[in-house]
Amino acid sequence: MIPARVQDAALRLPSAPAYLYDLPGLDEHVASVRRALGAVELYYAVKANPDAELLRVLAGHVDGFEVSSRGEHAHVTALFPDRPVALGGPGKTDAELRLPHHRIHVESPNELRRLRATGLEADVLLRLNPDLPVAGAALTMSGPFGMDEAGAAECLPLFDERVRLRGLHTHLASGLDAGQLLGLARTLLDNGHEEVNLGGGMAVSYAEPEARFDWTAYGSGLEALRRGRTLRVEPGRALTAYCGYYVTTVVDVKRVRGEAYAILLGGTHHLRTPATKGHDQPCVVLPTGGGQGVEDEPITLVGQLCTPKDVFSRKIVTSAHIGDTVVFEMAGAYAWNISHHDFLMHPNPAFHYLRS
Ligand SMILES: *Cc1c(COP(=O)(O)O)cnc(C)c1O
Repeated sequence: MIPARVQDAALRLPSAPAYLYDLPGLDEHVASVRRALGAVELYYAVKANPDAELLRVLAGHVDGFEVSSRGEHAHVTALFPDRPVALGGPGKTDAELRLPHHRIHVESPNELRRLRATGLEADVLLRLNPDLPVAGAALTMSGPFGMDEAGAAECLPLFDERVRLRGLHTHLASGLDAGQLLGLARTLLDNGHEEVNLGGGMAVSYAEPEARFDWTAYGSGLEALRRGRTLRVEPGRALTAYCGYYVTTVVDVKRVRGEAYAILLGGTHHLRTPATKGHDQPCVVLPTGGGQGVEDEPITLVGQLCTPKDVFSRKIVTSAHIGDTVVFEMAGAYAWNISHHDFLMHPNPAFHYLRS
């Protein structure tokens, strides 16, 4: 369901393709997440979408920002010089290890040794990657992320008053529901640490846009486990996915060996999410064209790229005509900023922001 204000704005855009961000929608959503989390701290994982307009809305609700590179750090600290920043990410350079932070999430014993060698003060959370079952996850962070129990044990003697151990950080998987995340939290919080960052990864369903992560259940579940400790979460996708829309138009409709296709202006070089995740991007086709087309039948929506991977949605049942407007939903996270913009040298989309 696309809010009426978004649909109206989409129909009034001066050009396509374009991104349209619903800032009041984001504000309302993050406010409700903030309320549900109670005393649990909320950071936003900037890599999901670093757009400054979105960050300004988020800044009204979150306790801090999680950044994963020198670039994100510079971007966020220029916008919000006084906000706490947690610096994470594998493969931090020496320059990154020298960046000011509220917390730094250390990924390995050798990274901790290099952090010590900077001679600077540091407040560290050790990123643990315990061998816990994460059935049902969209993506698991096994492999190079964080350290196992042996790595963490190797780190412990390296702390002192200058490089301080503040607690643990974990981010085990993405695409988990509240019950699954609480199950993991129960195991992860079974330790003596006074501060634990439980990461992000809250589920976002592209197949069922109305099925939202249960923040109320997660917040009250975490409150029951908190017992006076500092708990923090750092979602990305589940905060910003819903506020973004990619709006474009149909340039051609055709049938190839019986299959119907709509070719849209733009493509997955602007909205890579369905290509990387292999899903159908939810959308509506608004009848603004009235040209040649098909009526209520399965049709595959593709972009202008010369590759069979340039598919937004497969065999969705809809009418589609040349000149119609297509509004893709859930394009607010891991969308524009993960896309290969220069492939084929088509023009970039415009960016528009709904403010009220
Ligand atoms: C990507 C990432 C996040 C955010 O994950 P979402 O699935 O977008 O919620 C949080 N923490 C770390 C360490 C990450 O790498």
